[in-house]
Parts: sequence; structure tokens; C-alpha cells
Amino acid sequence: MDLLIKNGTIVTASEMFEADVAVKDGKIAAIGRNLEMTARKVVDVSGKLVLPGAIDVHTHMAMPFGGTVSADSYLAGTRAAACGGVTTIFDYPVQHAGETILGLIASKKEVLEKEACVDYAFHCCITDLNHGEILKEMEAAVKEGITSFKCFMVYKKEGMMVDDGTLVRLLLRAKELGAMINVHAENPDLIDFNIENYLKEGKTSAWYHYLSRPEFVEAEADKRAVHWARHLNAPVYLVHMADKEGLKACIKAKAAGASVYIETCPQYLEFTCDVYKREDGRNFVCSPPMKGKESRDALWTALKAGLIDTVATDHCPFQSYEKDWGKDDFTKIPNGCAGVENLYPYMLDAANAGKLSFERVVEVCASNPAKIFGCGSKGSVTVGKDADLVIYDRNKDFTISANNMHSDCDHTIWEGKKLHGYPVQTYLRGTLIYDNGAFTGMPGQGRYLKRKARKASRGGGAQ
Ligand SMILES: [Zn+2]
Repeated sequence: MDLLIKNGTIVTASEMFEADVAVKDGKIAAIGRNLEMTARKVVDVSGKLVLPGAIDVHTHMAMPFGGTVSADSYLAGTRAAACGGVTTIFDYPVQHAGETILGLIASKKEVLEKEACVDYAFHCCITDLNHGEILKEMEAAVKEGITSFKCFMVYKKEGMMVDDGTLVRLLLRAKELGAMINVHAENPDLIDFNIENYLKEGKTSAWYHYLSRPEFVEAEADKRAVHWARHLNAPVYLVHMADKEGLKACIKAKAAGASVYIETCPQYLEFTCDVYKREDGRNFVCSPPMKGKESRDALWTALKAGLIDTVATDHCPFQSYEKDWGKDDFTKIPNGCAGVENLYPYMLDAANAGKLSFERVVEVCASNPAKIFGCGSKGSVTVGKDADLVIYDRNKDFTISANNMHSDCDHTIWEGKKLHGYPVQTYLRGTLIYDNGAFTGMPGQGRYLKRKARKASRGGGAQ
């Protein structure tokens, strides 16, 4: 064997048990009590948990947005991922008019082959159908392992929104290819109307970022997305769910048998819109914004009940000086926050505190993302899977600070957050890439993850 991890407590989505894990050629080769094997490297993790590496299915590294580019290159972003126990990221390249999916993905792969510190996959954002060419090209993209596509129902003025007609075409096409459509659901016309009015009245602080896109603005688009998914019998995945009313509509559609999947993010579980009243409120500006306490509580209730499928980060940091552009005008604040390094530690701290089970955290951060997005080799500590492993010390105290993060961003919305329990090691396919506070991996060691399509179905059949 190459590696033998002894005496840990393994956590899967359904159980916790004490066992050793043996790794060979980057795969989990054996799991069992007191494995009698020789290995090149033996690690004793008595008293610690052995978890599957987290899969952060929502990141925006090196993304041109808000008049700049998000602060983490693929190298810095995936280095931060490794140090937070994330062994696979799903990034969101954005296709623009005239661009092809495969051309865009090829240009991203070229960078990631050199820079990626963890494994990676892509959801491709579609903003223009190129006179229908994109619908045709989606088939080739699915064969290349790009089995999910994102639609912005928002960012109209920014030229990224797809209109309802385009969304319908994409939903139906994805269905027949066994692919998934992910949607960012907010209503752009309401947002633009609100922004115009607030600016006219001289209301320009970060608080008006929240007030221009409050709960009902997100809920309307959530409801529209699930309404169509249900009646077109097409799967839909709602990214970064943040509001109670939309959440309820999604849960109802799920119960009625629709293929609706819900993602939320740690920032919506931790913060409320009150952060926008703070002096540094602009640092928390992301879209959708954090909502009121009722929404936050509803997200926790749904998460505990197994009604939220995934937790991911929407990692899209901007430097302080870029956030400062909006000091006197919230519309000039680049939207997005850092989070990829905080996902697993935050969720596991919640489990350590008894708020939900460790199994549930593994389910929403690793197993479900792997299942929903077709990564059969990932997401579980099981024989035959990639040896993406995180060793977690339930007793280690950690206070988050920009100084102990591994992102290139100069600040974090998680500054000062105290966690009880923290990852102490991360292994990517059997290789130690994070060890007690230090990144020990190599840029370029991350591999492209070619994903499998879901079961395809034809026709527009209503339910
Ligand atoms: Zn996003």
C-alpha cells in the first residue's frame, strides 16, 4: 500500500465507524479494523474523524465581473480549497455571445492544468445561444463531461441574463441530454426598478443593496424556475438559495415529484441582512444578499430535515480596495465573497456543536454533490473511490482571520469567527496537500473531472 491511515473514525453520509483506510494508486483500496498491511506511509489518526474531501460545486475563480476580476486565481483559489478540506471544485466559466462552450472550457483547462491544486470540473454559464448553435453544441459538451449549465435569471444590464424563452429551450435541451440546468434566481426588473429609486433618493449605502433585492425578489424567480421545471418535467438546480418563500416553493415542488435540487451557502446560514448596516457592510455584498432571520432559520430547518441537497460557497472574492469603489454607491461594489476555505470547517463546527449530524455534513458537502453532478469516483470514503480524505480534529480550536487563510484576498467576511474542531490534513488521491495549517501540495496536481450525464428523457411531458 502507499498509505495507511489507522485508528480513525470514518464518516459517510449514513454512518460513523472506527476503521483503518488503505490507499493504493490514489484510490481507497481497503477499509477495515486493524488492517494488517505494509504501507510506505502510516499515519495514526486516533481520536480523529476521517471524512471524504468536500466538493465545492460553486466557485468563481479568476472571473471577470463588476469591472474587475475576482481576486483568487485558479492557483490561489484551489490552494485555499485544499487548506479547507475541499478536494474538488466546480467552477463557473461564463460564455458570452459568439463564444463556444468547448472553446471557453479549453481556455480554462489550459490554465487549470498548470495551476489547479485540487481536482476540478465545470458548470458552463450560458448567456447567449449563438443563434441556436449552443443548443447543438451542448451534446458535444456533455460528451466532454460538462453535464451542467448555468442560467442567470438576473444581471440583465450586465448582459449575462437569459430570458424566459432561452431558459425554456435550455431546460428542455438539458433534459434530453441528461444534463442539468443550474439557475441563479432573482428578478432583474424589480432590482433595477428599486436601484433606480434608491439612487434618486440618495440612498447609497450597502443596506440598499439588500433592500433592492429583498426576499420576494428572489422568491419570484425561484418560483418561476421550479414552476417550469415541474411542468416541463426537466431537472433544475437552484444555486445559493437564500430566502424562505422560494425555499418553501422548491420543497413543495420536490414533494410533488419534480427534479428540483437546492443548494445553499454558509454565508446564508450564518449571517442576516443586518451585516449591511455595518461600517464594512460592502464587504458582505454578494447576490443574492443575506436575508432576514426568518429566512436564515428556514434554511437551517430545511438543512437538518434533509430538504437542502448541497452546501457550496459561491467563492468570488474581491480585494478591499475594489469593495471600496462602492463606499458611496452600493451599485459599484463588486458582488461576491471568499468562502471556499470556510465551507467544511464551518459545517463541521456546526456538527461538532450538535446542530446537525456529521453524516449530514458529509452528505451535503460531498456525497450529494458527487451524485447530483455525476462524479462517481468522488464523495465518499468507500473502497474504489478516489482517496480524497480529510482528517478532522474535533478538539482543535481555530479562529478565522484573513492572516490564516490561503486565498489571495486581503479580507474575509468570516474574520474573528471561532470554530471548535478543524481539519488537520487533506489528501488528494492519496497525496497530502494540507498539513496542520500549511499547504503542502503542488500547483498542477489537480485533474479535470470528466462527469457522467444523467438519464436522458425526451418530450415536454407535464406532471
Ligand atoms: Zn455564483
